[in-house]
Amino acid sequence: MNDFPPDARPETKTVHVPRPVIEGSSPISMPIYQTSGFVFDDPALMAESMGRPDGAYVYGRYSNPTVRALEEAVAGLEGGTAAIATGSGMGAINLVLLGLLKPGDHLVAQRSLYGGTAAMLNELVGRFGFTVTYVPENDPAALRAAVRPETRLVYLETISNPMTLVADLPGMCQVARELGILSVVDNTFATPLLGRPFEHGADVVLHSTTKYLSGHTDVVGGIAVFADAGLYEKVWHFAIELGASADPFAAWLTLRGLQTLALRMERHCSNAHLLATRLAGHPAVTAVHWPGLPSHPSYELAGKLLSGFGGVFSFDLAGGREAGERFMKSVRLALLAPSLGGVETLVLHPATTSHRALSAEELRRSGIGEGTVRIAVGIEHPEDLWADVAQALA
Ligand SMILES: *Cc1c(COP(=O)(O)O)cnc(C)c1O
Repeated sequence: MNDFPPDARPETKTVHVPRPVIEGSSPISMPIYQTSGFVFDDPALMAESMGRPDGAYVYGRYSNPTVRALEEAVAGLEGGTAAIATGSGMGAINLVLLGLLKPGDHLVAQRSLYGGTAAMLNELVGRFGFTVTYVPENDPAALRAAVRPETRLVYLETISNPMTLVADLPGMCQVARELGILSVVDNTFATPLLGRPFEHGADVVLHSTTKYLSGHTDVVGGIAVFADAGLYEKVWHFAIELGASADPFAAWLTLRGLQTLALRMERHCSNAHLLATRLAGHPAVTAVHWPGLPSHPSYELAGKLLSGFGGVFSFDLAGGREAGERFMKSVRLALLAPSLGGVETLVLHPATTSHRALSAEELRRSGIGEGTVRIAVGIEHPEDLWADVAQALA
């Protein structure tokens, strides 16, 4: 590969730079394979590798060693067989929905969904002839009643945004399995450290790696993890045509973030515990929606399914919309920003931002009030965070 003529001219030598072969040692950190394609010695191997996820690396949209390292790491954490990393969480969601469904198919989804997912389902219904039935995330009987001959899958979220409802994964996935439909679970809020949907019968687990898995608010990415190798291969073929693949640098940043996931999650959860408990006793607050509080409707289920209650929650201010907006302006340490799962604490006002597309009726049904504040708790010192929240409430 490197045996270009030694008497080549500068114009050629600048293009074909030498590539030292590393022998006798290897890098500690996973290298970034910043290349769009791969060179072959053997034309037959190249031809044969193009149509297979387990062939030699061919082209960046198909696979890349840095991206593969991330895929194997997350598949291993979730207890899945294989994974496909994508350019965003929505990319992973659409890869799976479009890769598994065809027009005319019916799917069942939980009522309370991530805003982008809810918008995409409306798009699928309006433009592509899908039908969707919405059921509560913890009602296997409602799922059973909703399934029809053309139902292909049920779509769930381990912990919902922003009311942090916990899905009854064992109950819902078991009904899906009995009735021969797939269960797809967005595990972004829980991460594989707090909850592992495959252990409860899920077929596909999705993440926005933008959030906790990368953890430093510096990358956008997603991943779809599969329990079954056949299903993975089917979706992989669609993935290379859809073109939703992850960039190697984004994959590398995510891998780097992943190395501290366990430490970060511990702190996110303990900080959220402290803030949620104190907010619940504050006179300006009428309700706190964190599944670690006994008053939360998912408290018992969360205790059984999750090994921690997560770092995102919401709370309702007595003063309604005006109080919500005032709180956003008054925080100093917490940043007014979308997203979650990073080291910094972020706040937002769902009624006017993440959930602005919902009608007043839909907002009411999802439990989001005019004075609801969502907080994605970071890893700062808990007393600094509490001091900030307390001064903003005052
Ligand atoms: C952020 C998020 C998504 C979408 O991910 P992007 O990386 O923003 O495309 C999907 N599901 C959940 C639960 C999320 O929080």
